Amino acid sequence: MTSAPKSAAASEEASEDQMQRIPLADAKLDGPLFRRKLMAWYKSHARELPWRGVSDPYRTWLSEVMLQQTRVAAVIDHYESFLRKFPTMLALALAPESEVLAIWSGLGYYRRARLLHKTAQFLTRERAGVLPSTSAELRTLPGIGEYTSAAIASIAFGESVAVVDGNVERVLLRLTGRSEVKTAAARAFVQKKASALIPKRHVGEGINAAGDHNQAMMELGATLCLPRAPLCLHCPVYSMCKTRGEHVTLPRAAQLSRPVAYLLSLRKRGTVTEVLLELRADEASLMPGMYELPPLPLDAVQGREPLLRLRHAITNTNYYVQVFAAHGPEDSGLRRAVPAAKGDLHWVLTSRLGSIPLTGLARKALQRLDVMAVKLPKLPAATTGMANTTAV
Ligand code: SF4
Repeated sequence: MTSAPKSAAASEEASEDQMQRIPLADAKLDGPLFRRKLMAWYKSHARELPWRGVSDPYRTWLSEVMLQQTRVAAVIDHYESFLRKFPTMLALALAPESEVLAIWSGLGYYRRARLLHKTAQFLTRERAGVLPSTSAELRTLPGIGEYTSAAIASIAFGESVAVVDGNVERVLLRLTGRSEVKTAAARAFVQKKASALIPKRHVGEGINAAGDHNQAMMELGATLCLPRAPLCLHCPVYSMCKTRGEHVTLPRAAQLSRPVAYLLSLRKRGTVTEVLLELRADEASLMPGMYELPPLPLDAVQGREPLLRLRHAITNTNYYVQVFAAHGPEDSGLRRAVPAAKGDLHWVLTSRLGSIPLTGLARKALQRLDVMAVKLPKLPAATTGMANTTAV
């Protein structure tokens, strides 16, 4: 007799049972030895990053929000330009949202920027512009979840609370010889291991034991214990690791491919150049209130040669992008094919492209096409934003 196939819920339960049956003792790590080895390595090998060693909780908060699901290299540029524009929480709170999104452009996940801005306004209004200093209080704020609250509380305030991001999870699973399992029990196991390793609060004389430990764990995952081909022979805790290589992971979601087309339309007005952009509706589920090149239906560009082709990845979709040129207002063929309502199309001075909220894809295409090539001096706040756009 064959047994009935298990439902997804039943399989998950089975995995949780399995996790619970494995005694935690089989994966015990010597905490003090582990910390000594890890910190010795971190002190001599940590990358110099602009948010390391800062004593301003606002800066730690900003860096932790930017680093969520984003490469360090991309964050470095944005972190510095963001702080030049908004050096304090008060400066951020007083800025219009369009200016915040403009500086965020290219980092993606714009909801993070909106929540950061709103939270800065809330703290300025209700808490005299002071960030709470405990992970429990930080978690009550919009946009600050378990990972971010632990990171801010430990790095900025020295709280003994473990940070578990994707890097730390991978390190702990490999150290303890586990496979990747996405269940509540597996998450609890990793959290328990991370908490067992975190040192007690010790702050002073250039030391922040918990904050440094958390940063060292993330650094180990980001630079040595890589998802593919980890550099185990350079690992400071090699002798304590049960895996010493890649661990078994769940199959990743397949990448989707989607062709898309956009219009590039430029016009000269005296000595200045303007580019036609579409403003996404405030109600749009993705990137509301941001400017992009006007999308074109694919059948409108059949048989035409694009000016530019590029690939743009968002989560699990690869967009194969083609940009088609319309040379001035007289080239009305392509312009007429743009389905956007007239009121959503705006001529924008190319010199202002750095100070309006552009989608990451629009920014990438305009940079590759040299439309954004000129770096202009910083504009006073009163002249940036929507004031420099002309409706069609
Ligand atoms: S030995 Fe390799 S797998 Fe183990 S923690 Fe170090 S880098 Fe990761």
